[in-house]
Amino acid sequence: MERKNAWNAYDEAALEKVEKAAQGYKKFIDQGKTERECAYQAIETAKAAGYTSLEEAIVQGKAVKPGDKLYQVQMGKAVMLFHVGKQPIERGMNIVGAHIDSPRIDVKQNPFYEDNDIAYADTHYYGGIKKYQWVARALALHGVVAKKDGTLVNVVIGEDDGDPVVGISDLLIHLSQEQMVKKASEVIGGEDLDIMLAGRPLQGADKEPVKAMLLSILKEKYGLEEEDMLSAEIEAVPAGKSRDYGLDRSMILGYGHDDRVCAYAEIEAMLQLPAVPEYTCCCLLADKEEIGSVGATGMQAKYFENAVAELLALTTGKESNLALRRALANSRMLSCDVSAGFDPLFASAFEKKNAAFLGRGVCYNKFTGSRGKSGSNDANAEFLGRLRKVMDDHDIAWQTAELGRVDLGGGGTIAYICALYGMEVIDSGVPVLSMHAPQEIINKADLYEAIRAYTVFMTDMGPRA
Ligand code: MN
Ligand code: MN
Repeated sequence: MERKNAWNAYDEAALEKVEKAAQGYKKFIDQGKTERECAYQAIETAKAAGYTSLEEAIVQGKAVKPGDKLYQVQMGKAVMLFHVGKQPIERGMNIVGAHIDSPRIDVKQNPFYEDNDIAYADTHYYGGIKKYQWVARALALHGVVAKKDGTLVNVVIGEDDGDPVVGISDLLIHLSQEQMVKKASEVIGGEDLDIMLAGRPLQGADKEPVKAMLLSILKEKYGLEEEDMLSAEIEAVPAGKSRDYGLDRSMILGYGHDDRVCAYAEIEAMLQLPAVPEYTCCCLLADKEEIGSVGATGMQAKYFENAVAELLALTTGKESNLALRRALANSRMLSCDVSAGFDPLFASAFEKKNAAFLGRGVCYNKFTGSRGKSGSNDANAEFLGRLRKVMDDHDIAWQTAELGRVDLGGGGTIAYICALYGMEVIDSGVPVLSMHAPQEIINKADLYEAIRAYTVFMTDMGPRA
């Protein structure tokens, strides 16, 4: 039952493809450090590959036919790509879905204050983080500010070599006797994650002169007033680019592998589809997974269902609620999300026979969840059986896994939400080390196998209905 290491099967040509995928992916995460930046890249890539706007097609009442490629965006933070197949959509789609939000530190709506000649931004962290990992490191600020006049100001500070970076300080070890005996969850408190932004007074300012310096820079460089922060979404993320990792360059160290590595693999897979696939293929890039898939851009919102309804109407020329239900129920989906890679340094957190290993290919989790599989989508055996055949027929390196040892913790993805429609769904992803840390680790072979797996999933699973 042990799975082989994927690298053993690669010839020179395959190694080149592995590296090409890795370099493309590194560029994607270097330019995509927020859900908005990832959504933007996905749309630009899709447009370059011939995708057109579903929204425009709706307005024009344009008939959609097999081979057509359409994209739809939800509030700039979630994206859907549809590649229309030969079969009626009612017969089901092959869907790959990932999330493009990652753990980070969000700037509060009323953030700025000055304390002892330092200007700070108050923050509220987003997603599950070990807070102590986010201090004493270079952070960059990414996001948007929506001004009252309707303009949207894009902010990226800390990524260019010449840019300043910001960050959160930690206590010196010399004075840390009390801190060092605290529980790891209490070493750094949520309200202690304040970002240092300035340290020099503005000449002539009578009160809070360092904060005045900060505000004068925001005004001068970005045309922003302090009040504009009330309608801003600024995310503090690790500054700098992803890097090849390991002396053999077999891995990638970077921010946001969870879950942008699967998002990238999905986009790449969409680009490799035949001109007219048999069944309609769909790539879903959702937001807010890290906080429960909530909100208008999270998977629990109805934008996907709405988009499929619109697509159906444009392909069939009529509206049918029943056809929509059938289309969703007859679909198959890979909920593409990273899995916990087995870490020999923390071996006891895993049950080794049912763990995902770096380098052994794309991973399938029949279920995730915690305790007694609580909150999990437990995929159907029949679906897994079919998947096994398709993966093996195409020599994909794949493995099965659980998210760690029973009763130790757990996690979830968007799988259970899409399963509500009655479609077949299974979790599938790339194993990650140091998940949710500012810099996570993946193996290049697993990314490559994920792209291959997602492609054949969309082309070769055969009919469901
Ligand atoms: Mn994830
Ligand atoms: Mn996550």
